Order: sequence, then C-alpha cells, then structure tokens
Amino acid sequence: MNIDTRNFKLCDLQWITFAAMSLLVIGSVAFDAIETPFGKTDKIIGGAATYISLSSSYFTDQVKLVAVVGGDFPKEDIKLLEDHGVDTEGLQIKEDEKSFFWSGKYHNDMNSRDTLVTELNVLENFDPILPASYQSSEYVMLGNLSPDVQRKVIERMDTKPKLIALDTMNFWMDIALEELHKTIAMVDVLIINDEEARQLTDQYSLVKAAQIIHEMGPKYVIIKKGEHGALLFHKNQIFCAPALPLENVFDPTGAGDSFIGGFVGHLSQCKNVSFEEMKTATIIGSAMASFTVQKFGTKSLEELILPELNERLDIFKSLTEFELT
Ligand code: AMP
Repeated sequence: MNIDTRNFKLCDLQWITFAAMSLLVIGSVAFDAIETPFGKTDKIIGGAATYISLSSSYFTDQVKLVAVVGGDFPKEDIKLLEDHGVDTEGLQIKEDEKSFFWSGKYHNDMNSRDTLVTELNVLENFDPILPASYQSSEYVMLGNLSPDVQRKVIERMDTKPKLIALDTMNFWMDIALEELHKTIAMVDVLIINDEEARQLTDQYSLVKAAQIIHEMGPKYVIIKKGEHGALLFHKNQIFCAPALPLENVFDPTGAGDSFIGGFVGHLSQCKNVSFEEMKTATIIGSAMASFTVQKFGTKSLEELILPELNERLDIFKSLTEFELT
C-alpha cells in the first residue's frame, strides 16, 4: 500500500482557463438555521448544491444546477448563484410549497454536530428535470439528496458522463439504505465523512471501510475527516490531504460541500481523470472548505477572490512539503 502525503501537482490558478467541461450538480438548495459556540443564525441560504455550485464556480463557468425550492426561496439568492455563473435552468420553483429546511447545532469541538430539524418539504416529491443543455454533461456531482432522486439523474442522462461522484449522509443510510446501495453501485467516486463511512461499512478502520466501499462499486473513495483533513483511496493507493489549521472556525456548515465543489470543479478542467489529478483536486477541495468555515453560511464563498485562493493553495503546499535526507 502506498501512502502519499506530500506529492501533488499545484500550479498557479492562471490554470482557471474556463475551458472546463460541463458539470451537472444536483443536491439540496435550502434554508439552514445554524448554532455554533460563536453564534446563531435564523434561516439563511444553504443546502448541499448551493455550496457545491458556489465553490465549483471558481473553477468552471459550466456549472449546471438541478434542484428544487419552494415559493418562499428568495429570488436574490437564486440571482446570487447566477451571478457566480451557475446555470439555474434546472432549478424548479414550486410556488405553493416550502423549501427544504435543515437546522444543526455544533458541539464545542466544532467537529461534530447534532441535526435538530430536517424538514424535507419540497424535496419530498422531487422529480429532477434535466434540461436539454444538461443532457451531455461530462461530469456529474450527485450532492446530498435522496438516493432515489440521485439515481434518476444518472438514468435520465442522454450520454454516459466521464465521471459521476456521489455524496450522501447518515440520514439517507437510516431511511433508504437499499436505494443508496443501488446508487453507490453506479458511481465512480464516493465522497463521505468518516462517521458515515463507518456507518455504511460497519468498519471502524477507514482503510478497511474504503476497501469495502470499493467493492460496492466506486473506483475512488474520499473520506473527509473534518479538521483532520481528507483521505483519497484508489486501489492500493492512498493520499492524505490536510485541513488548514485555523485559529478560529466560525461555522463548519457546508465545509464538506465546499470541498466537493473545489474537487469536482478542478476535475472538470482535466482532460483525463487520474489519481494524480485527484490528489490535486483533494487539496483544492480542502482549500475551498478552509474558506467556508471562516464565516457563517455561504458568506466566504460569495466573497472569495482568486488571489486569496492562490495564496491559500501556496500555504497548503508549504504545509505538506518536506525533504527526506
Ligand atoms: P455539510 O456541512 O457540507 O455536510 O452540508 C451541510 C448542508 O447539507 C446544509 O446546508 C444542509 O442544508 C444540507 N443538508 C442537511 N441534511 C440534508 C439532507 N438530509 N439532504 C440534503 N441536504 C441536507
């Protein structure tokens, strides 16, 4: 087994040439109410697909969103996504229904949280519609959502995507495990956190958990470990990406999805998906997550500028570089 912690290719973000291939993103677009030791928010914009779309928009102008919201969802928040170049043709608005609502409270360590409320609302009967211009997307990111709906997206594509990645969470393992297994079998990459990997496989060792997940179908497995970084597994290779050690973490909500946005956003610029590119994508994902946790909700992702991103990637490089003498 090769464990690789230091070699990854990182160029300047002049790389962001916007010659990327299209990236279809599905997931929740939601209202969140968050409580951390630093404060509390009322309903603010959140949702897996919101974070993924905003984060990946820094790497590609070809983000195509599939989601559903209720009539209560503010038009200016849809505009926010559009201002970041996100195509919202696949975003359904159900005027007479309420948007998905999630509320969570973080423990003092900020690494664990309790879900206080999950109101599916408009997600309960979500039937994803893929506009014609989405049909041949090369990259598909199935963000956190019912596994049944995630699978419908794969089945409704005209052409086989180059890469399909999937995220899920304990909520869906608890209520739709059989459906989830069917969906996992159809994807190339599974991205989940450590607790979820353990629940899915019944294995405490993350290395064994990744092997079991490989057997379920995905060739690549990414296990996110919050402030301890992320592990990338492919066959007998492992890469470890650190998380940026920060003095203050204000709100970890959406860190996982921001990671995913950076990860798939980078890959959508790559001609060929290889383990080497996946390593770089994992570092870029970690950098995007490090921004998100520094402010409440999507604030950091809304305001990010490319020089800050470049600077942070340099920090990641120096954080992981060492000489063997
Ligand atoms: P993360 O912190 O990256 O794991 O993701 C947080 C986001 O996931 C929040 O913005 C929530 O709106 C969203 N979320 C929470 N529970 C669910 C669920 N069961 N299905 C879809 N999205 C969810």
